[in-house]
Amino acid sequence: MAVIDFTKENMEKCQCLRCPVQDTSECVKTKLENLKNLNPDILPDAQDFPGVYCANGCAYCEDLNREKECQCPTCGIWEDYGLGNATPSFKYCQNGKVDEYEIFEEDKYLEEGGNEELEKDTFER
Ligand code: SF4
Ligand code: SF4
Repeated sequence: MAVIDFTKENMEKCQCLRCPVQDTSECVKTKLENLKNLNPDILPDAQDFPGVYCANGCAYCEDLNREKECQCPTCGIWEDYGLGNATPSFKYCQNGKVDEYEIFEEDKYLEEGGNEELEKDTFER
């Protein structure tokens, strides 16, 4: 399994822009407005896009409603990369990006014939 990349495709799959943690943030609104002025064919800088935090690390905006429910478990990327077993496993906007070493180790373990019965206990945090 590859590490998670900050790409246009992953920006489109990301559910952060539909997340209640961000929906009252003036900072997020400003970033989204600013994005409208950029060439849509060019990847923005990570700090200018309020999402894909699993790849880019914590949010730059500080006015997030951190008590609300994270939408990562509804995201295709979360499903594709098995992030339920990663560390951190959600709220990447505040917990930081996925530990790449851990994703690699889990993948390697399964490739080597890891026991699926043991998989959950071994990698779940
Ligand atoms: S990482 Fe989770 S909590 Fe943070 S904005 Fe994205 S979906 Fe919401
Ligand atoms: S797992 Fe969460 S942070 Fe990562 S792309 Fe999906 S919704 Fe965004």
